[in-house]
Amino acid sequence: MRWVLVGASTIAGEWMVGAIRAVGDEVVAVVSGDLQRAKDFAAQHGIPHALTDEKAYPALGVDAVYISSTNEKHEASTLFAAAQGCHVLCEKPLATSLDAAIRMVRACRSAGVVMGTNHHLRHNGPHRTMREHLRAGTLGKVVAARMQHSVYLPAHLQGWRLDNPAAGGGVVLDIVVHNADSLAFLLGEYPVEVCAMVSNSGMAQGLEDNAMSVWRFASGITASSHQGFNTPYAATGLELHGTRASLHGNGMMSQQPSGDLVLNSERGSEVLPVQRANLYEVCLQEMHRAIRGEPHEMADGVAGAKSLAVALAVLESAHTGRQMAVADVDALLGN
Ligand code: NDP
Repeated sequence: MRWVLVGASTIAGEWMVGAIRAVGDEVVAVVSGDLQRAKDFAAQHGIPHALTDEKAYPALGVDAVYISSTNEKHEASTLFAAAQGCHVLCEKPLATSLDAAIRMVRACRSAGVVMGTNHHLRHNGPHRTMREHLRAGTLGKVVAARMQHSVYLPAHLQGWRLDNPAAGGGVVLDIVVHNADSLAFLLGEYPVEVCAMVSNSGMAQGLEDNAMSVWRFASGITASSHQGFNTPYAATGLELHGTRASLHGNGMMSQQPSGDLVLNSERGSEVLPVQRANLYEVCLQEMHRAIRGEPHEMADGVAGAKSLAVALAVLESAHTGRQMAVADVDALLGN
């Protein structure tokens, strides 16, 4: 497939150009708001065309668009790509409002193109192994989940995430969406209600740089979700606790194929083998399956809208001091 990149972004340069090529696809053009940045990015990554206007890419014969601009720009680029008949892989959070995300999903549906959300964590080996054990019933009845996803925002990313609410800054929109997708992939459900507190340690300006929330699922499972930008020495992890066993994933909430998985039960503690593969390449392989109409495990546009609905409920709970219901995306989409 021939791809255009909308956004001369860090994630595109660090991960997605390589991943697109690794799965046998081609990067035809990059679009940036700044001509010099577009040219620099194209030269650095060997991309033939550097553009400043999306309207120029349809003439290049493009099959798919990867959107990794700041979050408030995702909607317009998705609507444009869908109108061109291009498949869309959009970064998370899909948008800064649920209405926008719903419009994006609808536009792709009407155009008959595949829409993916770049929730990479579900493609990490420990997530996959956890899900196999859940399906095999190893844990018995699952009662709780705990997610530790508080990290340190690297210096080169300390920009709009810390000071630009209009761009969808703040740690909740940035990371809660990943946590929601991880649990949805594992448990097959999203929370229906959340309760949250956020804090600002001075790293961000006018936005939260750390947040904790508790989620309730319709099945009765409760989960805790901790995310931050300001904890250089915190380890990440995801734990699932059942009546017969617990799974402890350590270091598995990362861009790298990483993490170890331990199964604790009455038989003691057992380190489980996990596969290691580039998460973003797996995401693209799954998207290829979706485009071919085959069963796939890509987070689609609906999954992206649902993870955004959770993050927005977390923010609203933190701001109002009340428990908040998570918006029903299926009902909004008429599914
Ligand atoms: P960046 O800040 O690197 O890039 C975002 C936009 O900022 C770019 O599109 C670019 O605009 C502009 N920009 C980039 N560098 C500069 C610069 N030096 N000076 C001025 N402007 C600049 O963002 P990220 O790559 O961190 O994130 C982009 C998107 O990807 C977000 O939606 C984010 O949430 C998501 N993301 C997803 C990850 C995942 O694992 N799924 C991981 C990291 C991010 P222009 O295009 O106009 O040049």
